[in-house]
Amino acid sequence: MSVLQPRFCTACGSALGGQRPHPVCTGCGRTHFRDPKVGVGVAVRDASGRTLLVRRGVQPEKGKWSLPAGFVDAGEDPRDAAAREALEETGLVVEVGAVIDVWPGAGAGGGGASFFLAFEASIVGGTLAAGDDATDVGFFAAGELPELAFPSTRAVVDRP
Ligand SMILES: [Zn+2]
Repeated sequence: MSVLQPRFCTACGSALGGQRPHPVCTGCGRTHFRDPKVGVGVAVRDASGRTLLVRRGVQPEKGKWSLPAGFVDAGEDPRDAAAREALEETGLVVEVGAVIDVWPGAGAGGGGASFFLAFEASIVGGTLAAGDDATDVGFFAAGELPELAFPSTRAVVDRP
């Protein structure tokens, strides 16, 4: 995936120069850091041990299935972000627990994320219904999975 490089300073509007290792403003001298895009998702299982998945309504991997997931907003607690995305995509209110694992790189985790964290989560309310970026939602056993968007989903489903 290509990353758009900024060309002008967000503080003073001057051109950015140098790549050592980050662009530096030719006007005010400010260094411009590129921040990672953090993806978070929840692993929710029902009483039968099946995992909650959503069908992606957006690219990348549109039409394939993944954990309920999305991006952390600036200043947002990652667990709050995971709970927010779960509610938006599945209609379920979840309590977010421990980190299961962290996956690096675009495509390995969430779409376009620099890295992706999956959290344990349990349902505490809500009504199951696909919403926001999800076109369908359901619980799946490890042996009956639909086509998955990201390797991290398989890893989460297969965990003990
Ligand atoms: Zn500047």
